[in-house]
Amino acid sequence: MSATTNGLSVSARVGSIKPSVTVAFGGRAKAMKEAGIDVLSFSLGEPDFDTPQPIKQAAIDALLAGQTKYMPTLGDARTRAAIAEKLTRDNHIPGLTADHIAISAGGKHSLFVCCHCLLDPPKPGEPAQEVLLPVPSWVSYAPIARLAGGRVVELPTGPEVDFKISPEQLRAAITPRSRLLILNSPSNPCGTMYSPAELRALAAVVAEAAATVAPGLIVISDEIYERIVYGGIEHFSIGSVPELADRVVTLNGMSKAYSMTGWRIGYAAMPGDFGRTLIKAFGTLQGQMTTCITSFLYPAIRTALAECDAEVERMRRAFASRAEVIFQRLNAIDGIHCPRPTGAFYVFPDISKFFGTTSGNGRAINSALDFAEALLEEARVALVPGEDFGGCGERCVRISFACSEEQINVGMDRLEAFLGKLR
Ligand code: PMP
Ligand code: GLU
Repeated sequence: MSATTNGLSVSARVGSIKPSVTVAFGGRAKAMKEAGIDVLSFSLGEPDFDTPQPIKQAAIDALLAGQTKYMPTLGDARTRAAIAEKLTRDNHIPGLTADHIAISAGGKHSLFVCCHCLLDPPKPGEPAQEVLLPVPSWVSYAPIARLAGGRVVELPTGPEVDFKISPEQLRAAITPRSRLLILNSPSNPCGTMYSPAELRALAAVVAEAAATVAPGLIVISDEIYERIVYGGIEHFSIGSVPELADRVVTLNGMSKAYSMTGWRIGYAAMPGDFGRTLIKAFGTLQGQMTTCITSFLYPAIRTALAECDAEVERMRRAFASRAEVIFQRLNAIDGIHCPRPTGAFYVFPDISKFFGTTSGNGRAINSALDFAEALLEEARVALVPGEDFGGCGERCVRISFACSEEQINVGMDRLEAFLGKLR
């Protein structure tokens, strides 16, 4: 229910949405820092590196050259073609042309538009379309899918299986109402990845179900962390599996690989005849929503894709080294354990062993939120409580290690001191 003030209210649909906890804790940590408080932030999933210089220069050049007018809604043809080429060359997704690519204002926007193009709210008396979601998962999938009218069906996982669903689990969850399966490898918040063989096995289940019980089933594969991998597992695009390719929407964006979070650039791709139809629908919705992204960013996207591999590699190596530091530090703490991160820049340790304790300043710790609040207020370490990631997330906290090794070490010292005062 939305709150009413003097007879005025926001819509029930929006009033029922939970604010993003990652954005909320990230904003809180930034505000505390700006107020001069010595807070160490491990909250927001945002690389700490600057955007590589050639990317900035390409945008500056386009701006100075007057590329400041409206552009085609799905992106200019050259940039859409460059993305299709990248996904063909690097991700081995077959059958993609520029017509199968939509550029949006961030991966989150691509996901939002995608869900609204593929889901309908249930008609009276009819069951809702189901969105299969392995959990814990990024906090925005479920609210966006629900807003678009879907019913989220959680597929629980845990640290003992590196937070991954099994083919049997997926098979058992699929029904004639299954419309979307959302996969995210490397994973936010878990920091783990599916191997190519594991993704092929899931693809076989989806292909079989699509031919029998669930003809309308589509996979959304969010691969925004594909370039941040360091654990020996190769990144694999499920959309490259030939028998499934025409049922997979691959989502990606510039935010993570190129350290461009504030630029707001994402994209979606789906091959085949239906892919072309879906991307047209993206154009219709975005045409009534954003018109296009900022026009002088298109050359910057092409520069990033064509010229910045060395910069991406430099950042990947830094994340690999940070992952090792945080993994060693965390697992040396009595009562904390998490799987070794292999991709993205997150760990998601179970901290439930500390539930039922009281903090140094007398706060009762009975949930991940209590833990995160007490740690922020008393030790000046910001992380994200796990409840909103779903499933076993209520026993976990997310630590983003997109920060220096020095900060990781000082943050872990503070965490240890905080835990040492729990009674
Ligand atoms: N997918 C995942 C898994 C994410 O963690 C994020 C967070 N930024 C996004 C998509 C969206 O990123 P952006 O909107 O910055 O492209
Ligand atoms: N995806 C990042 C995170 O999880 C950025 C914030 C958001 O979009 O959720 O922290």
